[in-house]
Amino acid sequence: MSEELKKEEKSLNFLEEIIEDDLKNGKYKSIVTRFPPEPNGYLHIGHASSICLNFGLTRKYPGYTNLRFDDTNPVTEDTEYVDSIKDDIRWLGFEWKNERYASDYFDTLHGYAIKLIEKGLAYVDDITAEEMATLKGTPTEPGKNSPCRDRSVQENLDLFARMKAGEFPDGAMTLRAKIDMAHINMLMRDPILYRIKHAHHHRTGDKWCIYPMYDFAHGQSDSIEEITHSICTMEFVPHRELYDWLIEKLEIYPSHQYEFARRNINFTVTSKPNLLQLPTEKFVPGWDDPRMPTITGLRRRGYTPDSIREFCDRIGIAKRDNIVDVGVLEFCVREHLNKIALRRMVVFDPLKLVITNYPGGEEMLPSENNPEDPAGGERLIPFSAELCIERDDFMENPPKKYFRLAPGQMVRLKSAYIIRCDEVIKDEKGEVKELRCTYIPESKSGSDTSGINVKGTLHWVSFPHAVSLEIREYDRLFKVEDPSDEEGDFKDYLNPASLKIVSTALAEASLAKAVFNERYQFIRKGYFCLDKDTSASRLVFNRTVTLKDGWSKEAKKG
Ligand code: ATP
Ligand code: MG
Repeated sequence: MSEELKKEEKSLNFLEEIIEDDLKNGKYKSIVTRFPPEPNGYLHIGHASSICLNFGLTRKYPGYTNLRFDDTNPVTEDTEYVDSIKDDIRWLGFEWKNERYASDYFDTLHGYAIKLIEKGLAYVDDITAEEMATLKGTPTEPGKNSPCRDRSVQENLDLFARMKAGEFPDGAMTLRAKIDMAHINMLMRDPILYRIKHAHHHRTGDKWCIYPMYDFAHGQSDSIEEITHSICTMEFVPHRELYDWLIEKLEIYPSHQYEFARRNINFTVTSKPNLLQLPTEKFVPGWDDPRMPTITGLRRRGYTPDSIREFCDRIGIAKRDNIVDVGVLEFCVREHLNKIALRRMVVFDPLKLVITNYPGGEEMLPSENNPEDPAGGERLIPFSAELCIERDDFMENPPKKYFRLAPGQMVRLKSAYIIRCDEVIKDEKGEVKELRCTYIPESKSGSDTSGINVKGTLHWVSFPHAVSLEIREYDRLFKVEDPSDEEGDFKDYLNPASLKIVSTALAEASLAKAVFNERYQFIRKGYFCLDKDTSASRLVFNRTVTLKDGWSKEAKKG
């Protein structure tokens, strides 16, 4: 089947359908989307869905995507987050047309507020937060008007100017839209547009002590940028009415809001306030800890941008919230790494093996870098009389159908020779210390004339040539599927065994030259990448993912 046909078969998601209609009936010639993160934390896998969606749409259809920092809350935001967000989006493979900040629009937004006041559609309220809450009513009972609601335009303009000038303390007053205190949608009951906050802003400094609320910044910023399709998550459905009301009353560019369901994965948390607690309270060393569901964590863990994009594409978008099995994400990275990872041999728990009939010295044996990649080439691995294999690839008293090494039994050493175990040497405690073996010289891989058939193939390394590694094996960060949904603190459900460090590993010599951008498959072990903790004296590798899905096997057994 041609690629073309395959693509056509994939049905459109509901946003693509809307956009294709809009383009077909001439509503737009091209589209503009935006990705609007609040710079108050690092991006996580849920954000990746939104990024792939927004940038994906303008890759598919004519138009472009802006990156807009939604920085209307001065207290929680930081340039560290701005930089990390930009870095993560680029790493995922996307580039924005314009880099914008909601705070760039503070002057314009302030002007919009004055316009509403002048139209009699906004007023300054000085009742307390408690009074405001009481007057708000409930979903089943209408609210009541604030005594400040009928202030004159002139008085409102004056008070708003004094709010801006810093005459009042935090919380003393707000600017509210004048809509309808009996509105069925609680958000339409005279929502707050501006609040007083004497706080330093990471971009505007101390220029402002009044800040617009989300609802009075987001839609307006969309309009200013002439965003055609403003895509957000389902919790903003009730905000859409206010979004449209403000655009209509301000008579500004009519952007439209569309909602899709949040995408979360199980065995982790993906809310920034929750994620923030993990590094701050030292449950993990940093935002980029390879167990974190952050983009920077996944990246350090060895995930590829392709695998994350593939994941987002595979789970698609929907209107109903759901939690995606982390197994799907692992499947995607496994599939990609299988195609690109260099095969290497690493013995995690070495058992020494001496080839008694080996003539001495060493020879270099070729081995394929990646059987999945015809252009992957070969490397040479040293073979000598002193080798090691994985301790659990040997059994002194094996059961039937044990195809690994056992006394008197033969196995093939990957890319090398067939060997037979002749003798088992033990220490004082009776532990197996060393195996004495003979090799079959005619059984060399690639030119085997021995006629011997063996069922087991083991990975190995040459002891005198080996380099030692530290390996970090990661497991799920939480013990339960949905930690935020459990009783008590979500942090009570952290998996205490989420990191296992293997410090005994010995690797084939070529790994001494490992590089950061490369991905490796340690044969029979899993996929690995070099960690940034690597130093001149210590090579550190992260396990990205196992070769097979161990959890679903467990589940089947259980
Ligand atoms: P959090 O709860 O993690 O703080 P947020 O919505 O406050 O999430 P923002 O920085 O506002 O985080 O998110 C930027 C964009 O990413 C928003 O459009 C938001 O809807 C979207 N987004 C955030 N989390 C998810 C998710 N889990 N799935 C899909 N989209 C998401
Ligand atoms: Mg948000």
